[in-house]
Amino acid sequence: MMANAPVRVADAFIGFAPEAPEAVAEFAQRASRAIGAQGVSFWRYITGTLHLESTWGVSAAEALAAVPASPDAEPEEGDVRYCLPLVADRRPVGMFVFHQADRAEGVAEALALPASALALALDHARLRVREVAIAERLNRLTSALQIPMAFVDAAWRVVQINGAFRAAHGLSEGERPETLSALWERIRPCYQEASMLDEHLADWWRHPLLGRVLEAEQVHPQEAHYRIVITPFPDERGGFEGAILSFYDVTQERRLMGLQADFIDSLEERVNASTQDLIQSYLDLTRANQRLRELDQLKSDFISTMSHELRTPLNLIVGFGSLLEDGISGTLAPDHQDWVRGILGASERLRVLVDNILDLSRLDAGRFPLYCAWIDPRGLIQQSVEELRVHPEAADKRLITELPFEAPEVWASPEAIYHHVLMNLAVNALKFTEPGGEIRIRLAIESGHWSVEVTDTGIGIPCEELDKIFQRFYQVDSGLTRRHNGSGLGLAIAKEVVSLHGGTIRAESQPGAGSRFTVRLPIEPQGAAPKEEACTK
Ligand code: ADP
Repeated sequence: MMANAPVRVADAFIGFAPEAPEAVAEFAQRASRAIGAQGVSFWRYITGTLHLESTWGVSAAEALAAVPASPDAEPEEGDVRYCLPLVADRRPVGMFVFHQADRAEGVAEALALPASALALALDHARLRVREVAIAERLNRLTSALQIPMAFVDAAWRVVQINGAFRAAHGLSEGERPETLSALWERIRPCYQEASMLDEHLADWWRHPLLGRVLEAEQVHPQEAHYRIVITPFPDERGGFEGAILSFYDVTQERRLMGLQADFIDSLEERVNASTQDLIQSYLDLTRANQRLRELDQLKSDFISTMSHELRTPLNLIVGFGSLLEDGISGTLAPDHQDWVRGILGASERLRVLVDNILDLSRLDAGRFPLYCAWIDPRGLIQQSVEELRVHPEAADKRLITELPFEAPEVWASPEAIYHHVLMNLAVNALKFTEPGGEIRIRLAIESGHWSVEVTDTGIGIPCEELDKIFQRFYQVDSGLTRRHNGSGLGLAIAKEVVSLHGGTIRAESQPGAGSRFTVRLPIEPQGAAPKEEACTK
């Protein structure tokens, strides 16, 4: 292969490293002087990634041996090959390789220093190119972001501010204060309480590597609330290399928080007011309850006293009336006999009424004595039937009982069940059944319960009245009711007594055909109360 004709050294560098033309020209001049007019036959400038650490410090000839041979420029026999590594800051930036036909002493040594200068110049130029490229990319990036941003370097120089920053602070296009303090002076009038921000910034300048989050209220050119986030970034050695200041618009957030706080305040006020009202109502209610209890007590005391007071003269009236009726002071004229019977009848009704009222007042006060015991329910019914057969209302009416052959003893108050429940239901059945009718009393034992049904073939009760007949003083308005005496208290007392036993009472009826009252009671004592008091309220 033909060797290339030698060319002037200066020509060998034309087009090399265009980023630093002056440095290249300078080096070419020095290389010309060292190599001489004979020029070089092959030259190559290699940029990039050769690892020169191992070749740095070795001779140029040795370094050249490591360079791959070029296929189009084989060195001629006798050529001298040179390799000049270009190293800046211990990093390879390139290598200049050339062949020379005749050896000239000391070329490599003479070029070592200029090569270093060239390397530094190239490195610097390349860094500048990179810096400009990075700045442009940053610019493009931050311009796209709608968040106002400013970038400062380690010397507090403003490297970059984006369009959003300019718009937010009223800076004109292309306006960019040199330093951070100049920038701050420029935008300071935009903020309320700027002196507070001065302090924060001064503090940051003292400790730049510590990030900051500041809240700032802007009054000009727009009313906004910014959260300024200062994010410093360290260099490789942990020193301060620069920072980004980002201005986040949190106006809406603050407004919402304000609204939320107002809402919570008003809610709190309303809750407080309602609580006060509630407390007041509760106190009023407690007082009213207390007053009601007192009045109730007064009423119970009054009824109790009155009933007792009424009983004494009543007993006297009945006693003397009975003596008169028995003819103890001589035979009475037929008229007088009727009067005495009238007095005795009215007195009896009055006595029943007084007794009923007294019982109810005791039931209300929880002082109704039950005196429960184990009793035979069959015996109880048989006893009631014997009494009913001689009752004045029983004439011309059939009285039938249906009793099981045997029944267990039940835990109940014989007095209360007999008088207030059984007799009351049976006498009602007699009262509201015309002569010729039938009254049936049936005892049944179910699991855990015993029940008594009192059925009659009397006038019956209209459906809509069935619930009301258990109310106090309630009487169905019928001719038969009016014909019979009554107070309307019997069923109310019966219901209370049954419920004290833990049982139920219910009425069914068909007007004109008759009625049925069913009482269902537990066999055993109810609840955890001691047996003797199980039925005492
Ligand atoms: P009194 O019998 O003293 O009026 P009660 O409380 O015992 O009071 O009864 C209330 C009302 O229920 C009676 O007035 C009557 O109208 C109605 N009543 C009760 N039992 C019967 C019955 N077996 N048949 C028809 N009506 C009845």
